[in-house]
Amino acid sequence: MQKLKIDINRVKYNLENVAQVYNSGEDGYTRLAFSKEEDQAIDWVAEELKSYGARVRKDAVGNLYGRIGPEDAPVIAFGSHLDTVKNGGLFDGAVGVFTGLECIRALKEQNFDSNMAYELVCFKGEEGNPLGGTFGSRTVTGQINPEAFDEKLLKSLEVSEQDIRNAMDTLPEYKAFIEMHIEQGTVLENNDNRTGIVTNIAGISRTHIKVIGTPGHSGTMPMNSRKDALVNASEIVLHIHKGAKKVKDGTVATVGQLDVMPNLATVIPGTVELTFEVRSGSQERIDAFEKEMLDWVTANYDVEILPGVKKKASSLSPEVRALLNRAANTLGLPVMEMVSGANHDANSLTNHTEVGMLFVPSIDGISHNPEENSYWEDIANAADIMLQALMMYREE
Ligand SMILES: [Zn+2]
Repeated sequence: MQKLKIDINRVKYNLENVAQVYNSGEDGYTRLAFSKEEDQAIDWVAEELKSYGARVRKDAVGNLYGRIGPEDAPVIAFGSHLDTVKNGGLFDGAVGVFTGLECIRALKEQNFDSNMAYELVCFKGEEGNPLGGTFGSRTVTGQINPEAFDEKLLKSLEVSEQDIRNAMDTLPEYKAFIEMHIEQGTVLENNDNRTGIVTNIAGISRTHIKVIGTPGHSGTMPMNSRKDALVNASEIVLHIHKGAKKVKDGTVATVGQLDVMPNLATVIPGTVELTFEVRSGSQERIDAFEKEMLDWVTANYDVEILPGVKKKASSLSPEVRALLNRAANTLGLPVMEMVSGANHDANSLTNHTEVGMLFVPSIDGISHNPEENSYWEDIANAADIMLQALMMYREE
């Protein structure tokens, strides 16, 4: 079995260079979805792809594709996104794109007699944005309603309803899609910085709970005749937190947002609106935990329940996982299988093709922050596994 190594210094140089040049932030790196910096970074990658001899195209919403290999061969695709959150880090999204770029260069340079085509994809607008996260990948896999958006909003982002229609459901047929991404958690760091192979992408279920109390004067209302919405909300927050700690199956639950009304020092809180979010790699676990908590809440408190965002958990391809494991084995690199707690473009493609994901360990789990960091040695390991897996597809 042939072994190729990624030129990790080239990946580092390109990634850091693009991050520094196309940056609108003071602190960390800022290439917001639909910003000129995002477009400029994508254009830079497009030019680089052309210089490697790849066939490059953009679709109507600005997703970038660069392909090498025979026109009629099955296509193995890989990639990620180049947009960041405000004051984000170097690695989220970019590490997958720049490693993918290097894979294209290395495979092209080999100039092998290939029975496979390879395509790097850079998706637009993955991070949270006014059109919703994973915008580019959801559009091309037909998971967006072009009529759902306000015309003014689209105009401000320089996207038209027609652009979305033109890009809808246009993702080419792929034999597989692999995304390499930073973990954004501490599981790998706590396991000797092995490379992660993702088994499932966690689903998300949010519920809005409105806790109803009785507002009153903070000085005149005796303690035993109060119905304090914030006190009740606090009990709910604690119950959810303790409940999630107890299940020990990877389910996580968070109350991350509280709106206290009227939110004044001298008034007993009359209502509190809170968001209850559950994430797990298993949809059954999400449904069961959510039901258990909401049953308890409605039995014990005066509340109104409103469903929020729901994204189903998905499992990634067993074949791609097996291939990534074999590739790591061939290179003697340690890996571990794990669930992704965050959503990714890869998730959008699970209805379209066989999908796999590789995770690079994150230092202290920090991401969406200027302090986001990973060791280049760990990035190199994941990148080598990626390239090895791509080469192994020629022999499958
Ligand atoms: Zn990302």
